[in-house]
This record gives sequence, C-alpha cells and structure tokens, in this order.
Amino acid sequence: MPTLLWFRRDLRLSDHPALNAAADDGEVLACFVLDPKLEASAGRRRLQFLGDSLRRLRDDLGGRLLVTRGDPEKQIPRLAREIGASAVHVSEDFAPYGKRRDERVRAALGSVPLVATGSPYLVSPGRVTKNDGSPYRVFTPFQRQWRESGWRAPAHSSAKSARWLDPARLRVRHAEIPDPGAPLDLAAGEAAARKQWKSFVDNGLRHYAEERNRPDRHGTSRMSAHLKFGTIHPRTMVADLDLGQPGAQAYLRELAFRDFYADVLHHWPASAWRNWNSQFDGIRTDTGAEAKRRFESWKAGETGYPLVDAGMRQLRETGFMHNRVRMIVASFLVKDLHLPWQWGAEWFLDQLVDGDMANNQHGWQWCAGCGTDAAPYFRVFNPTTQGEKFDPSGEYIRRWVSELRSIDDPHLRKGERPAGYPAPIVDHGAERAEALRRYQSI
Ligand code: FAD
Repeated sequence: MPTLLWFRRDLRLSDHPALNAAADDGEVLACFVLDPKLEASAGRRRLQFLGDSLRRLRDDLGGRLLVTRGDPEKQIPRLAREIGASAVHVSEDFAPYGKRRDERVRAALGSVPLVATGSPYLVSPGRVTKNDGSPYRVFTPFQRQWRESGWRAPAHSSAKSARWLDPARLRVRHAEIPDPGAPLDLAAGEAAARKQWKSFVDNGLRHYAEERNRPDRHGTSRMSAHLKFGTIHPRTMVADLDLGQPGAQAYLRELAFRDFYADVLHHWPASAWRNWNSQFDGIRTDTGAEAKRRFESWKAGETGYPLVDAGMRQLRETGFMHNRVRMIVASFLVKDLHLPWQWGAEWFLDQLVDGDMANNQHGWQWCAGCGTDAAPYFRVFNPTTQGEKFDPSGEYIRRWVSELRSIDDPHLRKGERPAGYPAPIVDHGAERAEALRRYQSI
C-alpha cells in the first residue's frame, strides 16, 4: 500500500530516516502543506528560504512533490484517503505549535497511523534527562549527558530510496510554492546546504574557536537557516567533525545549545512567550509612547550606539545577524531601553532567515536574564566596549553603518559624531543603573 511522506522541517532527501520508513511500505507520495497560520507568521525572508528549498526538493524529486495549501488537519487526511495510504510518515516536530498540530492531525487520521521517525536534532528533545527523569535546567550538565547519550550515524537515503507517486494525477488542488521576491544572501536547498557546510569545514572550522565571536570576520558557518529548515541534518554535519580539534569541539557545543533549547521549549512550552523563570514576572518594563519610539529607533538601527546600529541594520538588510551582536542588541533592548524581551523576539522572528522558536525565544531569555542559566541580570553589556573588543578595527560597524564608513573612530570614543548619525537615544551609564534598580526591586 502507498504511504504519504509529509515534509515539514526536513527539506532534504539524504540522511532522512522518515523517508526510509515511508519507503519500506510501498510507493510514496511526497507532500508539503503550506499552513496559512505558519505562512502568516514566517516573515518574508523565511518564506523565501522555504520556497527556494521546496523548489530544489521538487527538482530533486523529478517534480514528484505535491505542494498544497490549507489546514494540515484537513489536508493530510484528505490526501491519505485519496491515495489509500497505509500510514503518514513524518520527522517529529517538537515545537509547541507543531506538537499541537500533529496531535490534531493524528486524531483526524483515525485508523491511519501518523508515524514519526527521527527529528531535526542530534538528540531528540525529552531524551536527555537527569537520573530522576526530570529535565535539565542548566546547559553544562545537559551537554555532558547529551554527549554521553550519543546519536546514530547518518541514515542512508536519497531520491532513489523510494518509488515516488506522481502527484499530477491527484484531484487535490496544487498550490504555487511561495516566492515573495525577498533577496537572500544565502542559497537555499539541500545542495546549497552541503556546499556551505563543506566550505566551512574546509576553510572556517579550524579557526572557529577563536573567530566565532568576531562579527568583523566571516568566522561562523552560516548553517542556521539550513538547520532550521532541515536542508541538512546535524548528524551529517557532525560526521565530518574531527573532535580532536578545538574548532570542532566548539562547534559541537553550539549544536548542543540548539538541542538544549529545543529540549527546554519541549518541557516548558509556555516559555515561548513567557519568562521561563517566573521570578522575573515582577520586573517593570516600559511600554508607553516613549518606549514605542525607542523601539522604532532600535529596529531601524538608529540608537546612536554604533555596534547596536550595525547589528540592527545587518538584520534589516539581510535577515541575519552575528551571534555576539544578537546578544548585544538584545541586552540593549532589555537593559538600556527597559522594553519587554518579547518585543525584540517578535521583531527578530519577523526578520531572521533562521528565525526559530527554541533558539530565538531562549536566546532572548538568556540575554534578558529570565531564561535557563541565563546571563545574570546585573551583567549589563556595554555596547561601546563590546564593540571595541569584538570589532576592534570597526570593520563590522563600517560595513553596516554608512554614516560611519569613512571616519577614523567608528566606535565614537571621543564623542564626535559625523553629521547625519543620531545622538545616543539613551545614556548607557544612567540606564544601566536604572536596570539594576528595577532588578533589585524584585
Ligand atoms: P555558528 O556559530 O556557525 O553555529 C552553528 C550552529 O549552532 C548554528 O547554525 C545554530 O544552529 C547553532 N547555534 C549557534 N549558536 C547558538 C545559540 N546561542 N543557541 C542555539 N543554537 C546555536 N539561532 C537560530 O538558529 N535562530 C534564531 O532565531 C536565533 N535567535 C537568536 C536570538 C538571540 C537574542 C540570540 C542571542 C541568539 C539567537 N540564535 C538563533 C543563536 C545564534 O545567534 C545563531 O544560531 C547563529 O548566529 C547563527 O549563525 P551561524 O549558523 O553562522 O552560527
């Protein structure tokens, strides 16, 4: 009997355990359902990356990918009925919305099983626990246990692993793959993911441990959007790491963070938008008209703090921002502007190509101090000294802030500002003290 392979965050054909599971039973119909709820919240660039990845996947399948639009709860059972599927196969989704959706789809499928094989992670959420079965709240012991638990070798799979059903003869309405026309600085799809990864392994990994904090260098892998959409599996990547090398060890640690945050969100789904540490519920944030004006300046990269502005402009122009700078702009929003971290997280999700609930919401909560082993609230990043330390020649600032491109001192240490570049919207010293006052009051 035929089966249905429902692609979601696994837009590849290699190292795909669910594909192998689907192919075991007979012919396979490959499908992707454009869920209007997710489309509405995706942001243009993420939708572009998704659309481009789907076009590559369809090409790799010789056109035999059905793309349809609608509520998966209706679409998946309808498709399963039409082909007389014995099962619907998926890679498991652990994000709060995905879990709820899959429960509804499972119920709507009735006697046709929804079979989950594999996930987007090295170690699936929920698998690494303390001895008493409870989830970890701190990264370091999680990471130790995570490494101990280990992961499988990459699965052997390709377009040739299955006999694919031709969707052309189905009655279901086919949808256009989204193409919102958003420019991307990163190619999408499985072949591009492999190419990007190979280039990083050959050229970047060796220096990763030292360079990863330097936004002025191109020292990170830029694999985040590929990992988000599953155009490559992290297991395929880790198989290329020589763990005797410091760069490889440092890289594996970042992948452990990715698994950790997915695990945290799995156990505390409400932490998507609420403080993971509820002690922070009492902290006072600003939300009035002045707060909104400051938020607009932050979004536009017009705070008058060069590194913050460089990061926010990189984000607005490309949909990407270096990790160190994400931390600095997030700290600035929370501790210098006293705005709710959720405002920043929402803007990031709108703009980022790699926007991901677990990494983004918990990255923000780490910076805001209310997340799992978060940065202590009283440690307030100084945007100027951070700039001097991590972008010493000011190259990153010059790249993104045109007003500062041709001046000697892009960190503005001497306080002289070129015409057209905004004055600081707040005084860092005074706002740091204010942040500490608010913190002490809880
Ligand atoms: P590399 O340094 O090459 O890292 C390799 C991979 O490890 C990344 O692709 C990513 O999958 C993972 N990784 C790296 N750092 C982290 C981290 N701190 N937490 C979890 N996983 C990590 N990452 C996202 O993928 N999506 C997001 O929406 C996102 N939002 C963030 C928001 C804030 C406020 C902060 C501080 C961090 C956020 N991150 C997010 C984590 C990190 O900034 C990005 O993963 C990284 O910058 C992506 O670039 P890269 O692939 O070149 O990273």
